[in-house]
Amino acid sequence: MQEASIGLKSKSSAIGRACARFADFLRDHAALLRKLQWGIVVIYLLLLIVPAMLPLPDNAASVFNNLTIAAQFAFWGIWWPFVLVSMPLLGRSWCGWLCPEGMLTEWASERGRGHAIPKWMRWGGWPFVAFALTTVYGQLVSVYQYPLAVLVVLGGSTAGAMGIGWYYGHSKRVWCKYLCPVNGVFSLLAKLAPWHYKVSEDAWRESLSTDQRVIRIHAVNCAPLVPLRHMKGASDCHMCGRCSGYRDAIALTPRSPEAEIVHVAHGDAWQTALICLGLMGIAVGAFLWSASPWYVDLKQAIATWLIDRDIMWPLADNAPWFILTHYPEVNDSFSWLDGGLIVAFALGAAAAVGGSLYLALWLADLLAPMRPAGQDGKAGFGGLHKLAQALIPSAGVGVFLGLSATTITLLQHEGMGTGWVRPVRFTLLALAVAWSLRLAWRVLGQRGASLLRRGSAWLVFAAGLAPFVSAWVLFFAVW
Ligand code: SF4
Repeated sequence: MQEASIGLKSKSSAIGRACARFADFLRDHAALLRKLQWGIVVIYLLLLIVPAMLPLPDNAASVFNNLTIAAQFAFWGIWWPFVLVSMPLLGRSWCGWLCPEGMLTEWASERGRGHAIPKWMRWGGWPFVAFALTTVYGQLVSVYQYPLAVLVVLGGSTAGAMGIGWYYGHSKRVWCKYLCPVNGVFSLLAKLAPWHYKVSEDAWRESLSTDQRVIRIHAVNCAPLVPLRHMKGASDCHMCGRCSGYRDAIALTPRSPEAEIVHVAHGDAWQTALICLGLMGIAVGAFLWSASPWYVDLKQAIATWLIDRDIMWPLADNAPWFILTHYPEVNDSFSWLDGGLIVAFALGAAAAVGGSLYLALWLADLLAPMRPAGQDGKAGFGGLHKLAQALIPSAGVGVFLGLSATTITLLQHEGMGTGWVRPVRFTLLALAVAWSLRLAWRVLGQRGASLLRRGSAWLVFAAGLAPFVSAWVLFFAVW
């Protein structure tokens, strides 16, 4: 198989040939990649477990002299924001090359029971539900601050990955495919990647009809269960390289970062929910509540109302640390009222920001509706969910800005000047929104609508982004 990938590569550009050679290298050095992944696992477990056994750091502790702060910086200052950035730059290479959970679930699956994947696990709503629950729970237990919370959130996810891997599938990443809380987010962002494993249907067919069948070729173990022959984009692929050159029909190939959203992705209701209500709604609320004076005002008003009526239990901060933040030794404990308001803030942001995005998508789709079904009975390009895919750059940058706020806070604590931060934030936000608007214009252009209808739909789409942009302006410039 190693020598079989010549046909597809020879038709490509120099960059294409370099990509394909790189993918062949990955394929031929899987054992080396596994060793690298074990190295990451060791570092990950060290940063996950040891800080949870240490006392909480005092105010003088720094990233250079305290393992807890160093782990906090590694997880929330570097790891998460830049894993997110890697998705539109490299596709899901993080998942295939470095992710400790992906590697551990596959490793467990190689040794496990190999049961069939149950129907409940294939439910399309998991990416949205898992992301929403993890995001809100992370805020309730202050996962960005406390190592015990990190141990529960990340460690729980790793334990789940290993358990699912051990029980289901043979040498597969069933967890990553169906239940990983960030699988949906990564799938969306990878659609912007400038490369993907391209499948030539013709070459595949040819490989079946020629005498290559005689010399055939081991089946490829695609751990995240991508149907190789019909793979059209980068969403589900972990970029491991194992299928590079398979049947002389698959090669890592450069592409336009807009190609998948404009020409391939159709979207569906759950992806739209994840984009509008999850990434641009619940996540925005989760990032903003702690900076919001509205939160403080509302909490005071409700607390006063409760005290006047002698209803005291919501003000008690007696929940254990794995339900609500509870660290009396550093004077940081959430009351039941805090917990309820954080959930309400996240849901309120989903309703306000996500709701206006839904309304805008619906109206834009009415103004420039999808093409009628073709003679083959298949619907043309279009629909609300297709248009929602254009929001992916804005949604991704929103989450990056929220996560990198922790990076900035930690850098400030280390004494680094942060005067450059605000202009960089607004530049990133402006570029992402501009990219979403450009994608929307291109998607709407496929609908055969008049210029007036296309322009009106585009303006409505743009207006729908206003609450999302306003939320970040409040966070970075007003509050
Ligand atoms: S399609 Fe599967 S086997 Fe091929 S590179 Fe992606 S994850 Fe690996």
